[in-house]
Amino acid sequence: MSGKPRSSRTKLQPSPPAATHALPSYLDQTNLGPWSTYLQQVDRVTPYLGDLARWVETLKRPKRALIVDVPIHLDNGEVAHFEGYRVQHNTSRGPGKGGVRFHQNVTLSEVMALAAWMSIKNAAVNVPYGGAKGGVRVDPRLLSQGELERLTRRYTSEIGIIIGPTKDIPAPDVNTNDQIMAWMMDTYSMNSGETSTGVVTGKPIDLGGSLGRRDATGRGVFTVASEAAQRIGLKIEGARIAVQGFGNVGGVAARLFAEAGSKVVAVQDHTGAVQRAAGLDVAALLAHVAVRGGVAGFKDAETLDPADFWAVACDIMIPAALEGQIDAKNARKIKARMVVEGANGPTTPEADDILGDRGVLVVPDVIANAGGVTVSYFEWVQDFSSFFWTESEINQRLVRIMTEAFAGVWNVAQRHKTSLRTATFIVACSRILQARAMRGLYP
Ligand code: NAD
Repeated sequence: MSGKPRSSRTKLQPSPPAATHALPSYLDQTNLGPWSTYLQQVDRVTPYLGDLARWVETLKRPKRALIVDVPIHLDNGEVAHFEGYRVQHNTSRGPGKGGVRFHQNVTLSEVMALAAWMSIKNAAVNVPYGGAKGGVRVDPRLLSQGELERLTRRYTSEIGIIIGPTKDIPAPDVNTNDQIMAWMMDTYSMNSGETSTGVVTGKPIDLGGSLGRRDATGRGVFTVASEAAQRIGLKIEGARIAVQGFGNVGGVAARLFAEAGSKVVAVQDHTGAVQRAAGLDVAALLAHVAVRGGVAGFKDAETLDPADFWAVACDIMIPAALEGQIDAKNARKIKARMVVEGANGPTTPEADDILGDRGVLVVPDVIANAGGVTVSYFEWVQDFSSFFWTESEINQRLVRIMTEAFAGVWNVAQRHKTSLRTATFIVACSRILQARAMRGLYP
């Protein structure tokens, strides 16, 4: 079928490209942030989409974006207002799925990009979800536990009109955790008059959470890194690893690398950076962070100037903090053979090109960190069936899905001679747009 609209009575003209490519007017057009990175990634993949390219515009705008005011009583009696978002980027393949981030710099365009990357990621590992993401513009470290609970509950209530176990299923992201998921589940359940465990994933085990979920993203990073390393002849045992971000993703990935005999030579987080050429004691560093809130001040290591982190001598670099961390400047300094993106969107498109030109293999976020959503999918399935699996079953299924998805992406990259990022986008966008084409437009 041709991409042009048809009518038996009047001959309609397709909209001019300028109009169809206009950015949503509600965005700050001068500061698109990661959304602009995402748009460039879609543009790069479009030539590979064949007939499906006629639907590509659907990927360049979110299906739905909700902005909410989140007022709460502070402990001192004052009322404070925070801005919250929930964006459903695409639901062609299933309900929306993606985390909730509490961070002082969260913006709508950032949440849009994160939602879009969830669409790509879910399609890349072939779990039956679309993509969504949420966020509240708040520094949760400045809130008491009571204030944090009130913020979470009011935010959940506000976005309650668009989330639900078959509509859109939130999960943890930066600065949100299983306790916050428990409050979200309770709030949604109170509002809907039933205990609805499947409305969020990443819950505590006693509330329908899944074994293995906490470690899932880091385990997925480790699995995919091992698969990629094998293909470029790099041994995981003895490999030197540098990790930025030592939270849920970076901390677990570092632990698994250390357990496999790699040397974690440098770690950076929001408090500073530490290094040890012979390999850091990851278990001791995790214990230090649990008490001190960051890696700074860890005794059995040298302090590293955060500006020098990217130039550390290593084989695998794992950005696992925030987006936009590897830019054109520090991409030239990276000595690793591989960058494995634990964080979402840590590499700018310019930096991506520089790394590619320098022969550094980049394993992109949309496949590398998909372990979290894969076990979230397992959690959701277990909640629906009220039948829970063992941790070893979960880990086996996770490793199988990640290994197969990575092999598929690797083969596409070889066939088309593209980066792994473009290959992942080819696989994912084709799946999403195929679903879109089969469903057609309503009405
Ligand atoms: P987290 O809150 O557990 O940890 C974040 C880490 O990043 C902390 O160690 C923090 O100190 C560090 N950090 C924050 N700002 C930094 C800065 N400016 N410089 C250096 N380090 C900084 O968060 P997380 O869940 O580990 O998520 C990390 C990244 O992984 C995010 O991009 C997130 O979207 C992505 N991700 C998380 C999951 C998941 O399951 N948690 C899944 C997929 C992707």
